[in-house]
Amino acid sequence: MMPPGIDELRTPIRMTSLRTKFIVFISVIIIAVCSGLSWYVVNQQAQFMAESLRSTGLRTIKNLAYNTRFPLIAKDTLSLERLSDGAMNAEEVVYVIMTDSKGTPLVSKSKGALGTGSQARMINAPLYPDEQIVQSLLADPQNDPVITAFKSKGQSTSSFRTSSPPWWNVGFIDQTELLYDFAVTVDRRAASDSLLGPLALEEQEDVGGLERSAQPQSTIHGVVQVGVSNETMIQQLNDIVWNIVLITFLIIALGIVATTLLANRIINPLRSLADVAKKVSAGDFSVSLEPTTRDEVGQLSITFNTMTKAIRDREQAISAQVATITKHANKLTTLNQTGSAIASHLDLNALLSTVLHLLVEKVGFTHMLLMLYDPERGLVHQAQTAGIPDELASHIQSLEILIQEDGSLHADLLFRGEAFLIPEIQTVSARLDPRIFPYIMQLGVTSFVCAPLKSQQNILGFIAADSTPEICTQEDLDLLITIANTVGVAIDNAKAYQQLEQLNITLEERVDERTQKLTEANEKLRELDQLKSAFVSIVSHELRTPMTSVKGLVENMLDGLTGELTDRQTFYLTRVRANVDRLTRMINDLLDLSRIEAGRMDFTPVSVSMPELIKEVIENLQAMATERGLSLALAPSQNVPLVRGDRDKMSQVLTNLVHNAIKFTPPCGLVNISIVQKVDQWVEVCVADTGCGIPDEELQTIFERFYRSPTGPLESKGAGLGLAITKNLVDLHGGQIWVASTEGKGSKFFITFPVAGHGYG
Ligand code: ADP
Repeated sequence: MMPPGIDELRTPIRMTSLRTKFIVFISVIIIAVCSGLSWYVVNQQAQFMAESLRSTGLRTIKNLAYNTRFPLIAKDTLSLERLSDGAMNAEEVVYVIMTDSKGTPLVSKSKGALGTGSQARMINAPLYPDEQIVQSLLADPQNDPVITAFKSKGQSTSSFRTSSPPWWNVGFIDQTELLYDFAVTVDRRAASDSLLGPLALEEQEDVGGLERSAQPQSTIHGVVQVGVSNETMIQQLNDIVWNIVLITFLIIALGIVATTLLANRIINPLRSLADVAKKVSAGDFSVSLEPTTRDEVGQLSITFNTMTKAIRDREQAISAQVATITKHANKLTTLNQTGSAIASHLDLNALLSTVLHLLVEKVGFTHMLLMLYDPERGLVHQAQTAGIPDELASHIQSLEILIQEDGSLHADLLFRGEAFLIPEIQTVSARLDPRIFPYIMQLGVTSFVCAPLKSQQNILGFIAADSTPEICTQEDLDLLITIANTVGVAIDNAKAYQQLEQLNITLEERVDERTQKLTEANEKLRELDQLKSAFVSIVSHELRTPMTSVKGLVENMLDGLTGELTDRQTFYLTRVRANVDRLTRMINDLLDLSRIEAGRMDFTPVSVSMPELIKEVIENLQAMATERGLSLALAPSQNVPLVRGDRDKMSQVLTNLVHNAIKFTPPCGLVNISIVQKVDQWVEVCVADTGCGIPDEELQTIFERFYRSPTGPLESKGAGLGLAITKNLVDLHGGQIWVASTEGKGSKFFITFPVAGHGYG
């Protein structure tokens, strides 16, 4: 289970006050003790009074029994009356009855029954016991008095002998009068009358005497009855009870008052303690308790005060620690934020303003001033401020302060790079610039710190701050130096960035300028190129016609149409024809290239059997190969699928490659052509020769226009257009061309064409 929180402890709990508990507890004890004691006292008193009543009854009856012996024998009613009157004088005696031996009442005296609601007896309502008592005594004579108790308004309740009845105080409880009838037979003892003597003096002995005298020889003279009432006893007991009740209440009242006083003495300090504890728990440590008693509660108050003081001291210490930690955290945060600001601002003014405001907001500097140093002009200017009212700030920002070796603080800052902690401004007032001093006074600055802004070995300006109204500390100076160093670097960076930006702008302008020129040059080149293509096309066309004519005429002459030719003539004409052929090929190549570049190349795709096409090419070039002493062959191949493409263009591609192979292979060499199908969709043709080969560095360039190897045999050189045209034609089919060659050993040219029905070409 979680321990109760402070808030739970503060919630008022429904409670019965300690004082109430105390009073109730003590009252219950007092009531219990008083009631017990009262009951005991009343009971004892009742016992005592009952005993006294019984003694009175016994004494009276015994006296009467003794004194009435002879008057009864003599039936001297006068004496009997006198005796009975004597007995009736006793307050407790209610009636006296004297009966002769036959049961005839000789004397009957009664004070009467109690009147209803009053204590007075009504003489005209005599009160007598049951006659049955006399009858039974005459029938069964008893020397011991027979005591019969009965209620004045009812029958007898029981009869008993002289022993103490258990119900003596019944009347007291139910408040009804009880009558005790003492009856004894009066007889003449055979042995001696003297036995009755001590009856009046010693009851116990008398009783014993009576017991001993209960002899059968006695003669009964009559019966004497005395009735005693417990009414007086009840009244007395009632008085006692009321007194006791009164005293008990008095004691209880006194007890409650005493308890309340005692409880207050204990509880009031506890209440104060609780109130103070509540305030302490709410954070008010200024309260304390005044010990009012010199007991445990007083001791508790003293201890509580000590505890509160300890908590207050600790709280103050913690608050001080927290303040210090917060200050440090703020400084660290500021440093971090300064770093971020520096990283995110490349605009110098924005950067400086952000940094200064951060320092005022987070570190608690009151005013900040930063000025940049211009070494060329020898002054500080461009002031940046924070925490300074706008009107003053605008004045300060317009300041330009000349820095000279005059012992001023500025000189030390900017020439020697010294930082200062000035605890008392008056001590340096003479070293401050007279233009800036009034502003410092106006701001109420009494102490400040300042540090130079350094970057590498250069001093870029200074930064100053104050914590008015507090005095600046070494800690403030250390922080300012750290910030100044960072800001110094940042200023450097910002300046470098500004330069870079300027450079960038210049560069961009230059690039734009050059691009413009290049575009114009390009345009001119394109125009020239178009002119060239047109020129090449026209010239080629124009050259082809005379070439055809020259070739026809030369062939006619070789055929002997112009007469028999000498060997010399035949030789020259043969050379003319070969060169005309070469020139025609070059012109054709030029025409093809200009068509390709102009995008005017026709392309009519059909399905072509590659082996058949290669056989045709071999047939056309076989004479040339034979003439050069070369072996030209197609390697056997199987199930080569048809390819799709322009038959003439494919033929031109193959012719170019085989022609080159023948050209660049010395006599007795081999030119071998093979066909393979590659991954279903492509047919690959390889033209391999055992010629001079191509150097590695030329492998990438041989497909470029007008490229001719500087190393190849001179007589084999053409216009350098064959492979460029070949590559363009292969590209037109969607195929690829590449070469593998070893210098001095031969070359292998590979081309691919799409298999017919696969959507290429
Ligand atoms: P040309 O019409 O001059 O032959 P090409 O474009 O056909 O021009 O060839 C360019 C160059 O490639 C040639 O000058 C030659 O150096 C090289 N070349 C072409 N084919 C072969 C080959 N089979 N063996 C060696 N060199 C070759």
